[in-house]
Amino acid sequence: MHPLPRIRIAHLPTPLEPMSRLTTFLGGPKLWIKRDDQTGLALGGNKTRKLEYLLAEALANGAQTLITAGALQSNHCRQTAAAAAKYGLGCILVLRNPEEEHEKTSDSGNILIDHLLGAEIVWAPPGQRDFILQQTFETAWVAGQRPYLIPYGGSNATGAAAYAFAVQELAEQLSTDDFSQMPDWIIFASSSGGTQAGFIAGKQALKIPTRFLGISIDEQKTAMQTGISELANKVSDLLHIPQATLPEDVLVNDEYLGEGYGMMGLLEKQAIRLFAQHEGILLDPVYTGRAAAGLIDLIGKKFFSSNEKVLFWHTGGTPALFAQKYASRLME
Ligand SMILES: *Cc1c(COP(=O)(O)O)cnc(C)c1O
Repeated sequence: MHPLPRIRIAHLPTPLEPMSRLTTFLGGPKLWIKRDDQTGLALGGNKTRKLEYLLAEALANGAQTLITAGALQSNHCRQTAAAAAKYGLGCILVLRNPEEEHEKTSDSGNILIDHLLGAEIVWAPPGQRDFILQQTFETAWVAGQRPYLIPYGGSNATGAAAYAFAVQELAEQLSTDDFSQMPDWIIFASSSGGTQAGFIAGKQALKIPTRFLGISIDEQKTAMQTGISELANKVSDLLHIPQATLPEDVLVNDEYLGEGYGMMGLLEKQAIRLFAQHEGILLDPVYTGRAAAGLIDLIGKKFFSSNEKVLFWHTGGTPALFAQKYASRLME
């Protein structure tokens, strides 16, 4: 893979661990976990890897302010604010306004951290986020703040490329640790698609047989496949990987969308408890709880054969556990 300019902010390599008790409990395939919840940047998560490349690009362009956008609960915005603080850059986050009367900032586990990190927050009514993001960028530009725009989820080719390099990191760990073999499957939460696009490019570059199955958090399968294949091809161009990706090469399961984005259902609650009580590992209600719910359900349906190795790639999000709307339901 063609190297890219990079800064070092993530704690890498993230740990790779067996989940023996969960494997026994579920009576299924051999389960491992890759701990990208432990990337170290203000409580960690998958956006930290992407920011290593996005920040390098921003700094090379003389940026002085990072601007990005997301949901009230955005883990991407939290990690971007932390990266900005570490590099002495300004940070403006365009966050979607709480939609309903009863929805409050206490419904976010990240907003406190955004504040502590010194980010400026611009609220956008639902449906106007793109417009307000553009407006915020132009205002900052005119004011001479040298803004640099990071897309939703950090998911452009530069950000997504981080996950191609993450596949390489895993391959190197496997050659030195006790694991010795690539997993048959890697399961993870997929949303803006950057993580999955990077995984696909990395798989092609290293020519590994592992299948990367994204559990969709908020979108239908065909839309995911189209967007992710396009992004994977951009990552491949950037990293000089010759192979092209077609929509049908993108493995997505959209059967766990439940009541929609951020709506924690019974399956997510059960998955969070199972990981906590068998492995001492904390998932989150929005992303990894849903992906793990999918994994557990697929194991129950004998989707994997019992001698296969399945790696759950933890993408972070843990601060959401402390948002009132989830915490109170998890205590029930
Ligand atoms: C952003 C995020 C994801 C999804 O990653 P994408 O690259 O946007 O698909 C998964 N899990 C957590 C915790 C996230 O914050």
